[in-house]
Amino acid sequence: MNTFQQLGLEEHLLQAINDLGFETPSEVQQKAIPTLLSDENDLVALAQTGTGKTAAFGFPMLQKIDVNSRTTQGLILSPTRELCLQITNELKLYGKYCKGLNVTAIYGGASITEQAKNVKRGAQIIVATPGRMKDMISRRLVDISKIDYAVLDEADEMLNMGFFEDIKAILSHTPQEKSTWLFSATMPKEVSIIAKKFMANPTEITVGSKNTGSKNVSHEYYLVGSRDRYAALKRLADAHPHIFSVIFCRTKRDTQKVAEKLIEDGYSAGALHGDLSQNQRDLVMKSFRNKQIQMLVATDVAARGIDVDDITHVINYQLPDEIETYTHRSGRTGRAGKTGVSMVIITKSEQRKIKTIEKIIQKSFVKKDVPDGMEICEVQLKALAHKIHDTEINHEIDPYLDEINLLFEDSSKEELIKKFFSVEFTRFFNYYKKAKNLNSPSGNDSFSDEKKDDQSARFFINIGKKDGYDWMSMKDFLRDALGLGQDDVFKVDVKDSYSFFNTETVHMPKVLEFFSDFKQNGRYINVEITEKKERRGNRRFGGQKGGRSRRKDGFRSEGRGNRKDRRKDNGGRSPRRSSDFKPQGSSSSRPRRNRRK
Ligand code: ADP
Ligand code: MG
Repeated sequence: MNTFQQLGLEEHLLQAINDLGFETPSEVQQKAIPTLLSDENDLVALAQTGTGKTAAFGFPMLQKIDVNSRTTQGLILSPTRELCLQITNELKLYGKYCKGLNVTAIYGGASITEQAKNVKRGAQIIVATPGRMKDMISRRLVDISKIDYAVLDEADEMLNMGFFEDIKAILSHTPQEKSTWLFSATMPKEVSIIAKKFMANPTEITVGSKNTGSKNVSHEYYLVGSRDRYAALKRLADAHPHIFSVIFCRTKRDTQKVAEKLIEDGYSAGALHGDLSQNQRDLVMKSFRNKQIQMLVATDVAARGIDVDDITHVINYQLPDEIETYTHRSGRTGRAGKTGVSMVIITKSEQRKIKTIEKIIQKSFVKKDVPDGMEICEVQLKALAHKIHDTEINHEIDPYLDEINLLFEDSSKEELIKKFFSVEFTRFFNYYKKAKNLNSPSGNDSFSDEKKDDQSARFFINIGKKDGYDWMSMKDFLRDALGLGQDDVFKVDVKDSYSFFNTETVHMPKVLEFFSDFKQNGRYINVEITEKKERRGNRRFGGQKGGRSRRKDGFRSEGRGNRKDRRKDNGGRSPRRSSDFKPQGSSSSRPRRNRRK
């Protein structure tokens, strides 16, 4: 079934499809639409983001509901407000020829009375986030007791976000006889539990091999020293003047920090994460869609499912905790038949994760070098040349041209071009002329780690894999417990029942003091300093032993309090930009991005 006509859709829907410019149904649409149209089965569909799932459930639902009735007949649950709005808009487009159709979005952070009003007008379809939906049910502002269709969209993500109980509560207000359609990119245990609990003999559809990413995305990684992440990010952006990208960080804090730094450095960037108000998020998304923002720095949750076409690059500023999440990230690019690049900035200790990802996505990464200063100057210069070449002449300048022409009377075209381009080139050149090589040699320890070795201390800690840690969670634990910054804990090496890590020597007293009396799960955590120049694996512990006086109060509150104080002592966030990126001289010597449009 290669055409929409063959799927059994009615004429007015085909007309809308035609208007949208969809030529052929995607795989999930080919499989789901006829099934959903022909019987009243439950359905579990596994398909990547960007495969057209909205239309796969949207068209059958639109065909099946009765637009002459004002009863709510379809409920779509979706994890975020962004997605809710996206689905609502999409359904409105699909149903543009369904006279009397009313699709209403329900989500937190906006006026509940306004939403209730829209429902009251006779919403046949409600698209909702679980939290707000539950709220509205308990206030009796919606009635879903007569629905025929319930869709759980991005089910894995909803469960990740802890919506299980909410979903359960919501579904308990729906009739037994309805059909439930579940859509998910992955099938973790929790999703199969939902499927078992709330569905009867569902038809199952899997599209593509599970978890593999889009064919149109190529994957690259850049190996840098742990302190050069940000510098590398800037170089990648500078080397792609037309970049339109989502940059993923692991935490809200890092997301905010990276976005702030980029903005400070003159890039058109914005942050998207859960700590922002809905208003701020809307504004950022609007600017991004309009391409006023070239780089959207986002957390995984906030960016999930965002459907913005034309994203040229996804940059993994940090790899995600859950490797599976990588597929979602890279799926933000290479959409709608376009090609895209997913870039990963990693440090040496993360290199093995690349192998794991390669297995999941069934594609190889290309290891690339972070471009050096001269490469960037060249790229920027050429981009400028093309921009000027393609610029339409603005005749408003005509009246002033006589004077300008006079000034350049004796200049040849060649000289003029040289001078003209030197204006821009010199700015980049001055900025990058002393730029160092950011690439970390892959054979040995990264040089930036090496450099740090002189001023760093290596610690032994008596917790390890047995306690459920891997290097990343160990690093997080230490950073949080000690109130240290992103790159302040490094060379984390987690063994079975113990681990090693480094900090700069200045943090040594803090580390020893903190762990002199620290309990976790009722057990004292012991940290000792290892002898300097000690080779890994050959451990002998020297240094002080921490005293073990008992603490009266529990760790949690104390840990938290300490963390805050420490941060204050450090003078707040310390971005420690590498000197490479300190603008030389005045702020005007810093290369500014040309804003799009
Ligand atoms: P998913 O929910 O699987 O992530 P979406 O439903 O958001 O994917 O669809 C992704 C994009 O592809 C949307 O912009 C949508 O309009 C577009 N799209 C959907 N189906 C088709 C099709 N058959 N042909 C072309 N574009 C499509
Ligand atoms: Mg979707």
